[in-house]
Amino acid sequence: MVINRKYQHFCLLLFAVTALMASCSPKVAVKTNSTLNPDKTTSPAIVRGPHFTTDSIYTTKTDSLLGIVKQQQPAVLMDSTGLIAAPSEWVGSVNFGIRKANYVIIHFTAQDSIQQTIRTFTIKSTEVSAHYVIGKDGKVYHMVNDYFRSNHAGVGKWGSVTDMNSISLGIEIDNNGSEPFNDAQIKSLLLLLAQLKKAYNIPTANFIGHQDFAPKRKPDPGPLFPWKILAANGFGYWSDDALEIAPANFDYKTALRLIGYDTADLNAAIIAFKRHFVQDDSTAQLSQLDLNVLYNLYQKY
Ligand SMILES: [Zn+2]
Repeated sequence: MVINRKYQHFCLLLFAVTALMASCSPKVAVKTNSTLNPDKTTSPAIVRGPHFTTDSIYTTKTDSLLGIVKQQQPAVLMDSTGLIAAPSEWVGSVNFGIRKANYVIIHFTAQDSIQQTIRTFTIKSTEVSAHYVIGKDGKVYHMVNDYFRSNHAGVGKWGSVTDMNSISLGIEIDNNGSEPFNDAQIKSLLLLLAQLKKAYNIPTANFIGHQDFAPKRKPDPGPLFPWKILAANGFGYWSDDALEIAPANFDYKTALRLIGYDTADLNAAIIAFKRHFVQDDSTAQLSQLDLNVLYNLYQKY
């Protein structure tokens, strides 16, 4: 039987979309224990897990986003009067893929428990989320698909990037903001970062903290976070053990900008830099040691 080629393509597309939607459906556990269902003629009971409702909302939202990416409309270009439109037409290219994250932003939750954070990220009114949350026992909770935009970075600037949420993955670590990060968390974090770096080809320099992107608003992940260990594994940079003395005319403001800091508020940028790369205090003064660290670091970027 000869099938029209367009019909074949339509069937393939339908199959792909159906498969994708099926894979996004909430997982529903079915009790099969016969002691719970002694009468085998009755239907098995459906167990609704603790996150059934919010998982269902996630699935509905996923379906609505699929609708957006399937739209095929020509760009409508109007002049300033809104009366004259440039001629336009939709012609689908055959060469495209899905956009990938290019940054990883690390946070601490500043909350008291992983349960509290999961609740925060599954309530609509908070409007916040992260792709991943790592519990104190090292368990990694994946909460937003890597290809979706989660609300973790907010307003800020790094280099020329302002909409960090659109190009980054957010990782929250269960930590109240004033305690050390434990070995189980860091071990899981390193495994996760290795996977993400490889999957999305994320540059070494692009593993940064929320405090770096939003120095005026955010203190996380703070001076206790082990950036040196991360850098030793290829996630972000760290200064060398042997430091050259920074020259007297060293332009530290330009060096901070070259790394990525927004120096519009220079004091905030210096404090964020010190919280990340020096980790000894949070004043806006740069000591000779701080300058030496900065002089060493900026040459890596
Ligand atoms: Zn944060």
